[in-house]
Amino acid sequence: MPSPVTGLHHVSAIVGPAQQTMDVYGGLLGLRFVKKTVNFDDPGTYHLYFADDRATPGSFMTFFPWGDGAMRGRVGAPQATATAYAAPEGAADLWLDRLASHAPTVGVDFDAPAERFGETVLTLRDPDGLVIEIVESADAEGGWQDGPIPMDAALGAFHSVTLATAQPDATMRVLTDALGYEEHAEADGRVRFVNPKAERARFVDVFRQPGEAGRMGAGTVHHIAFRVPDDEAELETRELLLQLGLKPTPQIDRQYFHSVYAREPGGVLFEIATDPPGFDVDEPADSLGRALKLPPQYEPQREAIEARLAPLTLPY
Ligand code: ZN
Repeated sequence: MPSPVTGLHHVSAIVGPAQQTMDVYGGLLGLRFVKKTVNFDDPGTYHLYFADDRATPGSFMTFFPWGDGAMRGRVGAPQATATAYAAPEGAADLWLDRLASHAPTVGVDFDAPAERFGETVLTLRDPDGLVIEIVESADAEGGWQDGPIPMDAALGAFHSVTLATAQPDATMRVLTDALGYEEHAEADGRVRFVNPKAERARFVDVFRQPGEAGRMGAGTVHHIAFRVPDDEAELETRELLLQLGLKPTPQIDRQYFHSVYAREPGGVLFEIATDPPGFDVDEPADSLGRALKLPPQYEPQREAIEARLAPLTLPY
């Protein structure tokens, strides 16, 4: 059975204070803030979503802000150690200018441009230590028409994620045998996989060696999600994961998509997420992110939940 997966759906990370994350991802990087909700497993804390202007799967970065006293994590195996956005070709110069003038004010540092598989890569670390990359790529798509970054440089869809895992060979087998990826290129100890069905967010890189051990906490990726078109495709993918010996959860309703989670043998938490119903299921597409949205089970506790959440100011 061929895998119905069509690329990355979202990446979810743990961070510190919510406002700091807002200032970096909404402000500096100019992503659209598309959903203000709570962690469905811990409703006293936010779950914040940033994406392109159409809130397209393959462009969501989501954050669980643990607040001021958050325990800092360490980037390393088994984790997604970098999340890359695709930027239009030629955009690196604008980004370098923007980073030089604005990154220090929001606590972001960045490296000189590097080249990887023939593409220009800018590497940033947010104030929690989370690693974000901007990759000049013909894959760049989306962005936010009304956002702070001109469309010829705006970030929308992901380019890739990079995985450091405890058992890279087993991780690669899950990518190829259950998630429909094909080996694409290899250099510098990094194997690049591509999903031939994907229109955007096509790549996953895996390090040949696990490298240094990480620790979950603020500044690390909690899980990565792969997209499928519908529930049926999700259950087919779940079956493929079972056949490889993984232990996927049952399907869970996440309000904006339906999810199945499974830890791959190398230790990274994978999620399979459906494209529907999408982010305009509980608020109009043109005012996404403006109001605190709660799933039905928490609506009766809205007042108490709102009282526990720190106020959040949009940077635009
Ligand atoms: Zn998720």
